[in-house]
Amino acid sequence: MKVVTTARELAAEWETARRSGAVIGYVPTMGALHEGHLSLVDLARAECDLVICSIFVNPLQFGPDEDFDSYPRPVERDLGLLESRGTGVAFLPDWLEIFPRRERTLADFGTHVSVPRLSGQLCGRSRTGHFDGMVTESLLFLNLVRPDRTYWGEKDFQQLRIIETLVQDLRLPVTVVRGATRREADGLAMSSRNKNLTPEARAAAPGLPRTLQEARAALMGGASLPEVLATTREALDALGFAVEYLVACEEESLTEVSTLDGPAAVRVFAAATLGGVRLIDNVRVTEERRG
Ligand code: AMP
Repeated sequence: MKVVTTARELAAEWETARRSGAVIGYVPTMGALHEGHLSLVDLARAECDLVICSIFVNPLQFGPDEDFDSYPRPVERDLGLLESRGTGVAFLPDWLEIFPRRERTLADFGTHVSVPRLSGQLCGRSRTGHFDGMVTESLLFLNLVRPDRTYWGEKDFQQLRIIETLVQDLRLPVTVVRGATRREADGLAMSSRNKNLTPEARAAAPGLPRTLQEARAALMGGASLPEVLATTREALDALGFAVEYLVACEEESLTEVSTLDGPAAVRVFAAATLGGVRLIDNVRVTEERRG
């Protein structure tokens, strides 16, 4: 595995790969890698000749009160994991390589990319500007890496839909591939932030996916959506979660729905804080019901 830190070195790797006709797959990450990230590397390995993985904690997508400075950065461990899964190139630029004018926030950066139709709801409601910072930096990285295929996890479903929309609307020459959410044995969606859970909160955290699965089962059994959402919210409250949102949305448009009777596939999305750690998860609730 080659470890590169500059756009120039990265471009040299790209030229070499292209000359040999390689299909290039790209997995963007912020590091503190776990099986969720590595499953995307595995997917990319299965479909591409060269896998490029970036690790970059993007300052533009963190709010002023969020955990940019304390975000975990176990670089040596991450590199070992990437190498063990067959990554060809690890791209680890430092901040000034990407933001030479020392930009820390989207307001500092000259160019803003936005997918407004999908960015104001769900996580966008509390994390103002988060998705604009994410998508602006993601386009910058897609331009540096120039992959044929790029791999994104369904755990961050709103982010994934924003990237898919960016690529579709601006006709970016890249295919976006979805990776299923990877979970711990007890159902908790893997996340770099799970490490911040206290032992007590970690023990309670699987209540989120469990409750979502119960909601899904009730909906599959024909229960009404508003009732199921109300029961689910009560269950989460009782388990000690501070629920930020619990809503059902059409999967493609992320428009909130109040019944499952429409033609669109629907997911239930949740964000909840437990012991000061914000967890998100989502579950599709329509497939089998209509099938
Ligand atoms: P992050 O490092 O949190 O920016 O995540 C990098 C990529 O990994 C994003 O596409 C995430 O959606 C994806 N990812 C994070 N956690 C998981 C998970 N548990 N399962 C699948 N993909 C994930």
